[in-house]
Amino acid sequence: MERKYQVVVIGAGHAGCEAALASARMGLKTIVITLNVDSIARMPCNPAIGGIAKGQMVREIDAMGGEMGWITDHAGLQFKILNSSRGPAVWSPRAQCDKELYSVLMSKSLQNQSNLDILQSEATSLIVKNRKICGVKILTGQTIETEAVIVTTGTFLKGTIHLGKMYFEGGRFNERSASYLSKSLAEDAGLKLARFKTTTTPRINTLSIDYSKMTEQLGDEKPKPFSHFTEVESWRKNLKQLSCWLTYTNPTTHKIVGDNLGLSSIDIGKVNSKSPRYCPAIEEKIERYPEKTSHHIFVEPEGYNTNEVYLNGLYTGLPFDLQQQMINSIAGLENARVIRYGYAIEYDYSSPLQITKSLETKTCQNLFLSGQINGTTGYEEAASQGFVAGVNAALKILGKDPLILKRNESYIGILIDDITTRGMDEPYRMFTSRAEYRLSIRNDNADLRLIDIGHSIGLISDKAYKKFELYRNTLKDIYNNDTNNIPADQDLSPWSLEKAKEEVYIYKKYEGYIEIQDKMVNKMKKNEDKKIPADFDYTKIDSLSAETKQRFMQVRPQTIGQASRVHAIKPSDIAIITIHLEKQKKERNQKISEKHNS
Ligand SMILES: Cc1cc2nc3c(=O)[nH]c(=O)nc-3n(C[C@H](O)[C@H](O)[C@H](O)COP(=O)(O)OP(=O)(O)OC[C@H]3O[C@@H](n4cnc5c(N)ncnc54)[C@H](O)[C@@H]3O)c2cc1C
Repeated sequence: MERKYQVVVIGAGHAGCEAALASARMGLKTIVITLNVDSIARMPCNPAIGGIAKGQMVREIDAMGGEMGWITDHAGLQFKILNSSRGPAVWSPRAQCDKELYSVLMSKSLQNQSNLDILQSEATSLIVKNRKICGVKILTGQTIETEAVIVTTGTFLKGTIHLGKMYFEGGRFNERSASYLSKSLAEDAGLKLARFKTTTTPRINTLSIDYSKMTEQLGDEKPKPFSHFTEVESWRKNLKQLSCWLTYTNPTTHKIVGDNLGLSSIDIGKVNSKSPRYCPAIEEKIERYPEKTSHHIFVEPEGYNTNEVYLNGLYTGLPFDLQQQMINSIAGLENARVIRYGYAIEYDYSSPLQITKSLETKTCQNLFLSGQINGTTGYEEAASQGFVAGVNAALKILGKDPLILKRNESYIGILIDDITTRGMDEPYRMFTSRAEYRLSIRNDNADLRLIDIGHSIGLISDKAYKKFELYRNTLKDIYNNDTNNIPADQDLSPWSLEKAKEEVYIYKKYEGYIEIQDKMVNKMKKNEDKKIPADFDYTKIDSLSAETKQRFMQVRPQTIGQASRVHAIKPSDIAIITIHLEKQKKERNQKISEKHNS
C-alpha cells in the first residue's frame, strides 16, 4: 500500500465517512484509518437518523453532495415527518434504520469510491513540524505522509465504559478504546482535552415483548425520502415499513431506579464528566423530575433481520440485575429478555473553541477535527461536521477559500458557529430553537439553499444540477401562475411537479414573514461579513475589560457578527472593536496613499 496521501481521515464513524467521501470525491488522494472495518458508520445508540432539527441537517448534507441521506433511504425501515401537526418550518424527517444494513451500505460506498483507501489500524500519533501537520503514525509503526489530517475519533479516545460500579476500557461495548492519540493531540498539536460522557439503553428480544399492552406507532402513509436524488415512486414501492411501539415507565419503575441511584455509574462521583442534558439517563430524569410518575418509552426495531429491539428513553448506567428489574416493571415488558445491557461511556473531547469555522485547529495548520471529538453528540451533528471538514481539507490543499456556511442559510452553519463561538459545558445537540431564521431554513428547501454550493465544489454532478435548474424554473412558473410553460410530460425526476407545487405552497404561506426576516438578515449582513484580521491585537485596546480580551483571544472570532455571539460579550464591546477596525483601516489607507504620492 502506498504510504503517501493528500488527506488522512482518522476514524470511520459518521463524521469520518462523510469527510473521507467528500475529500476523495473532490479529487484528493485520501485514506481513512479505522480501528475496525466491520464497524464502519456503526450506530451504537438509537437506530435512527434525523428527527427534530437533525433531519434538516441530513437534508443539507445531501443537497451539497454528502452520503447520509441516500444511505438512510436505503437502510430505513420506518419513515416519519415529526412535528407534522405544526408549521412546515419545523417539520423534521426521521427514519428508523436497519443498523446493520446502514453500516454495510456505507462501507460499500467507501469501498467503491475512487481516490479512497481504507485501512484497519489505530492512529497512534500525529507528526507535526513547525505547527503544521505532515503525517500520522499507526500502531504497527509505519508512517503515513500527508498534507492534511481530519480527526473523527468519536467516543474512543481513552474511552472508559461504566456499568454500575464496574468500569473498564472500551471505545464502545466490545470495541477497544484508542489509548495513544490523546497524548499526541495534546503534546504535538497543542490541544487541551477534557472529558464528556454519554449513555445508551438496553436491547431486548422482540419475542419476549407483549405488544398488546403498547400503542402502535406507524410510519407515514406516504413516506418521503431524505435524499433529493432518490426516485420517490419506485422507492416507495420497494419500502416495507415496520412499526414502533409506545409504552411508559410507572411508579414501580421509578422506585427501583430511585432506590438504587447510588449503584448507577451515572451517580455523581463515579462518572464526573457531563452528559447530554437532552438525552438524559433514566436515573437523571427521575432525580430531576421527582413529581413525574411516568416517562415515554419508545420500543424500536433495530433491523429486518434481527430480534433486537431498542428501548428509546431508557438510557441507563445501572448494574445488570437492576436493569432487568426496571425493564420487567414496564407494561408489555414483564417477561422481556435482555440481549445487551445499557451502559455509560466517558471519553476525551477537544473544546471546539480551539478550531476555526472551517474546523481547522488554531494550534496546528491542516489539522481538522469533526464529530464527537468536538463535544457534540449525535450521528447527524457528526456527519455534518465530517462533510464540512472533508470539503475544507480538500479546499485548503487546492489553495481555495474554505466553505463557511452561514447561520441564515443552514443548520450546519448554526452548529459550527455555535460550537466555535460559544464552546460548551455539556455535549451539544441541534434543536430548531437554536435557529433564528428557521422560517427560511426548512427541510423542504435544503436543495434551494445549498445545491449551488455542492455544485460549485464539484460534489453535485452537472447532470443532477441541470435537472435541478429545470425544477427551479418550474417553481418560478408555478409561483407566477405561469403554468402554461410547463409541458405535461416534463421529466423533472428525481424532483417532481408534486414537490414543486408543495414547495411553492410552503413558500407562499411564509412569504410575508420571510420578507421581514430577509430585511433583518440584510441589516445584520454588514456586521456578519465584516472581517476581523486573525492577528488583531485585543490586548492593545484599553477600553476592553481583561475578561473580554481573554474571551476574544480564546475564540478569535473571524467576523464582527461572530464576535457579537461570543459568550458574555456586550454591544459596547462590539462598538469598541468596530471603531478600532475602522481606525486601522483608515491608517492603512492613509499609508498606501502617502506611499503612492511620494
Ligand atoms: C454508549 C453510547 C451512547 C450514545 N448515546 C447517544 C445519545 O444519547 N444521543 C446521541 O445523539 N448520540 C449518542 N451517541 C453518540 C453517537 O454514537 C455519536 O454522536 C456519533 O456516532 C459520533 O460520530 P463520530 O463519527 O464522531 O464518532 P463515532 O461514530 O464514535 O466513530 C469514531 C470512529 O473512529 C474510530 N477511531 C477512534 N479512534 C481511532 C484511532 N486512534 N485510530 C483509528 N480509528 C479510530 C473508531 O473505530 C470509529 O470508527 C452514543 C454513543 C455511544 C457509544
